[in-house]
Amino acid sequence: MQIAIASGKGGTGKTTLSVNLATLLSQQISEDITILLADMDVEEPNSGLFLKGELLRSEVKYRMVADWDEKRCTFCERCANICEFNAIAYLGISVMVFPELCHSCYACSDLCPEDALPMIPRRMGETKEYRLTDRLYFMESRLDIGVEQATPLIEQSRKHIEESSTENTIVIIDAPPGTSCPVIEAVKDADIVLLVTEPTPFGLHDLTLAVDTMQELKKPIAVVINKYGIGNRDVEKYCADKQIPVIGKIPNLKEAAMMYSKGEILVDSIPEIRKEIANIYQNIIKLTKSNQ
Ligand code: SF4
Ligand code: SF4
Repeated sequence: MQIAIASGKGGTGKTTLSVNLATLLSQQISEDITILLADMDVEEPNSGLFLKGELLRSEVKYRMVADWDEKRCTFCERCANICEFNAIAYLGISVMVFPELCHSCYACSDLCPEDALPMIPRRMGETKEYRLTDRLYFMESRLDIGVEQATPLIEQSRKHIEESSTENTIVIIDAPPGTSCPVIEAVKDADIVLLVTEPTPFGLHDLTLAVDTMQELKKPIAVVINKYGIGNRDVEKYCADKQIPVIGKIPNLKEAAMMYSKGEILVDSIPEIRKEIANIYQNIIKLTKSNQ
């Protein structure tokens, strides 16, 4: 099973839920199951701040980009005309390729009559995998500084998850925030997407955007309200109107905020939060069974 945890914006508690759900399940679930927590928020992965373990695997990730070979080029201009992403500029006496704009579609490379645009690997980031306990594994992908496209690294991270999991693995994805291509790529294989929000007008606004995106993708969704107790009840009213299940309400506790700021796991020390996270998992099971 794959559970993705997403949110319309950053800072709503997505990582708190991911880390604490993974930790709790690894302590409670039957012995033949392992948990893989995968941080796919590749621009700012921070699940690792809460977790310590033994490094199992570290892989540099590359994507293919077009590279101009001046010696072969006959300046026919075809490549610049075919590139849909404006990654090639034809300057009459030279051709410029902008690697950050290249989407690795191979069109120019295939079309060039002189083979003057070979595709070459370009480093974009790194994926690391750790064993935290016998039952809990953690994987994080991180974009290199200056690399702008997050989606190709997330796409490769999905393949990494496939290699590292079995039918007895529960995968928990800490997805990037927002509603654009990276989050869409991160939740592709998820059986259910939990949208984490806060009970405030801003929280509701961002939640509505995230709901629209997930409904377009036809993904089963459920909402978890973090910092329950502040703000108002508008998120609950919205979810009731839209018939979206609210499967958890994580209470707004001062001690939780203090522990979070020190990078500590909440389910190990705060019984109220442990109980609510366990309740969230039970609700996930019920929902995924009813969706089958
Ligand atoms: S298609 Fe090939 S030969 Fe034509 S301008 Fe581009 S690189 Fe040069
Ligand atoms: S591979 Fe595709 S995106 Fe990249 S430069 Fe060539 S045509 Fe443009």
